[in-house]
Amino acid sequence: MGNQGEIELIKSPIQGFIADLHHRYQHLQDGVVANYIPELAKVNPKLFSIAIATVNGDVYAVGDVDHLFTIQSISKVFVYGQALADRGRDYMLTRVGVEPTGDAFNSIILDEQSKRPHNPMVNAGAIATTSLIKGNDPTERLNRLLDMYRRYIGHDVFVDISVFTSERSTGHRNRAMAHLMLNFGMIDAQIEPVLDLYFQQCAVMVNCRDLAVMAATLANKGVNPLTQETAVDSGCIKDILSVMYTCGMYNFAGEWAYKVGIPAKSGVSGGIIAVVPGQMGIAVFSPPLDSRGNSVRGVKVCEELSQEFGLHLFDCSSRFWDKLGMIAAPTFRNGN
Ligand code: GLN
Repeated sequence: MGNQGEIELIKSPIQGFIADLHHRYQHLQDGVVANYIPELAKVNPKLFSIAIATVNGDVYAVGDVDHLFTIQSISKVFVYGQALADRGRDYMLTRVGVEPTGDAFNSIILDEQSKRPHNPMVNAGAIATTSLIKGNDPTERLNRLLDMYRRYIGHDVFVDISVFTSERSTGHRNRAMAHLMLNFGMIDAQIEPVLDLYFQQCAVMVNCRDLAVMAATLANKGVNPLTQETAVDSGCIKDILSVMYTCGMYNFAGEWAYKVGIPAKSGVSGGIIAVVPGQMGIAVFSPPLDSRGNSVRGVKVCEELSQEFGLHLFDCSSRFWDKLGMIAAPTFRNGN
């Protein structure tokens, strides 16, 4: 484990379990690092970290937890939350649907009738969502997103310029989607500044522990459990978690809901976040991806965590808190 920064990592059955998971899966060689964004292809496939942050503010982490990587598609969750806060739910629904596609994250398909992108967790929907972030000019919009990330994580973040420019110069497929949506009036802003903001939101640097805290903030009704700062209005949480649950893992979303059973989101740089409402945020980072663009080790780790601690939302036991020797947190599933 690297430098522990300002967060104290604590020993517990959770720490022991994630250390064991890390040990067991670090030798798994399956999957391929994303290379369609040239800069991402340079990453070391052996990097691997797991972090859990609870709504009580405890953080457990193992592996390369300080390694910084670009957040990529995991950004879609948080930017969707910001757009919901900026525009309101009803307006958002006129621009971006909430239906899973069953297609790949980068498919160029819009809803036949409404011409909306299917949901905000695939590229087309995320680009439309980014176009709805409020701000007077590109700098203000970027600063609003950077400040949003800061609230979720608890410290300032920055955009990796080399990944941003790498994607901007090669992201023709995303550019094509943006033009298609412009054609149907689903985007009314200028295309290039929207794409720039989308590529920038994807190129924000985070580490695995940051992602766990961001996920825990969603689990904690939008309040960062370490800083107590509100990152997003609690009224948006249900909408955000719903689309994560049904659409967050792309064309693996159904199987994920069946096996793991908690809202989640993955990104091509190898991150996965998962949110156990009222309890905790989970993050895994491991760059090699499966054919659907989800981290191979990340999926395995989340499957085991869900199994071991009874995290599936439709599992009525509270094994996680039992294992910690605690009664369930008061917010757990009773909405208080
Ligand atoms: N920036 C990436 C893209 O638009 C994000 C995709 C992802 O992480 N799945 O292609």
